[in-house]
Amino acid sequence: MQTIRGRLTAWYSVALALTLAAFAAVLYLDRRSASYQDLDRSIQSEASLTAGMLAESYRARGVLVRPDSAGHAVLIPDLSALLEAVPEFLVITARDGSLLFASSDARALTFQKVEQLRELASAPISGRASGTVQLGADGPTIRYAVHYVSDAGPQFGAILAGANVRSAEVGPAQLLSTFALILPLGLMAALLMGTWIANRALTAVDQIITEVREITDGRSLHRRLAVPVVKDELGRLVQTLNQMLTRLERNFAALRRFTADASHELKTPLTVLRAGVERAITTPGLAQETLVTLEETLQEIKRMAELVDALLMLARADEGIAPLHREPVDLRSIVTEVQETGELLAEEAGVTMEVATPAEPVIVSVDASRIRQLILNLVTNAVKYTPVGGSVRMQLGPANGRVALSVADTGIGIAPGDLPHIFDRFWRADSARTRTGERPGAGLGLAICKWIAEAHGGQIDVVSRPGRGTTFTVVLPSAQR
Ligand code: ADP
Repeated sequence: MQTIRGRLTAWYSVALALTLAAFAAVLYLDRRSASYQDLDRSIQSEASLTAGMLAESYRARGVLVRPDSAGHAVLIPDLSALLEAVPEFLVITARDGSLLFASSDARALTFQKVEQLRELASAPISGRASGTVQLGADGPTIRYAVHYVSDAGPQFGAILAGANVRSAEVGPAQLLSTFALILPLGLMAALLMGTWIANRALTAVDQIITEVREITDGRSLHRRLAVPVVKDELGRLVQTLNQMLTRLERNFAALRRFTADASHELKTPLTVLRAGVERAITTPGLAQETLVTLEETLQEIKRMAELVDALLMLARADEGIAPLHREPVDLRSIVTEVQETGELLAEEAGVTMEVATPAEPVIVSVDASRIRQLILNLVTNAVKYTPVGGSVRMQLGPANGRVALSVADTGIGIAPGDLPHIFDRFWRADSARTRTGERPGAGLGLAICKWIAEAHGGQIDVVSRPGRGTTFTVVLPSAQR
């Protein structure tokens, strides 16, 4: 069971099923014992009523027993007719243990079973006795009560009144079958109720998960989760998460501010350094060695200045203070501008460059300098990562009501495992290479490209095959006409 919802429902159903079963068991046992008590009461009263009747008749008539045709002592006929009205088993024995009377139910039994009843009633007893007995191996189980008859003349021994226990089992058995019917229904209801309760309780959790998922990066840290009205456990969880978000936001902001401030503070000394080195290079009569050193230093300063610019831009973008100066422009003109720089780079690298633009204007509302930076970054990368003899192709055209610009190269390509990281800051595929070596760079170019594309409501995608080449495609919304 993977979800709390499932587990809660299962536990709830099991708990309810156990409660119902326990309730059914207690009710059944209680009802059964009440039924047996009722049965006992009724046979006891039958026995005492019969004893009372015998005593009464004895006082009125005297002799109640006379011999039958076979010479056995039996109860006089009108008295035995009267006793036939007593339900189930009624057996009356003489003081010597012989049978004086057996009700019709008792007479319907086999001889052995009647004998069994007679023996029970002829045991040497005084007062009362009761119990449960099974008649024969296959006969009915009966509850019986034996009353010793003392005031109906010297002939009488005892009266046994009995009843089949089945009559006491019928009511509880019916109750049990009713429960057997209700239990599955109850379980179904429990399952539904459990699901409903779990759903109600966990909808709030689902909502929290959705809201937290929407906070994907540093830029959405200003968002807060909706605090529920009820301050229960979930309410406290939301509050705790919100407090954590506040702390995270504060730390992120501090980090961004630090990067922006540090980059900003580095800009001026770098400019001064650059101006100083540029001036020094022009000093006449410099030794060749000094000149080389100064040129290398200048290269490094330029690279550092670019890095600081990139960092400052990303820090400002994160803070939301890198404004876009949008205006409608023909993208073809930007592509042509970049083409000029690209061709110079390509020629230097021994790579051919092709550009395909449509005949009609491609108007988009963008910040021209940012888009130029984006395309130039992609073209620079394409040339940088394409060996001598390769080619770079820039293509501009419409794409499903939007504008697509692709930069494809036949270069070294990017390993599939690296693809998800290439837009990360400071990420470079061949980290073994130095930042100033064969293919210099800091790993910020694509992070900036991504930001520029997304800030314009567009997106940037990459398709690459190692050894075959890479294609970056930027899709931008068309200008509203
Ligand atoms: P870098 O300054 O290192 O070029 P980027 O952010 O521009 O930084 O690129 C990140 C990494 O993505 C590069 O280091 C390189 O490994 C890979 N990459 C970018 N463009 C290409 C390309 N056209 N072909 C192959 N790899 C590329």
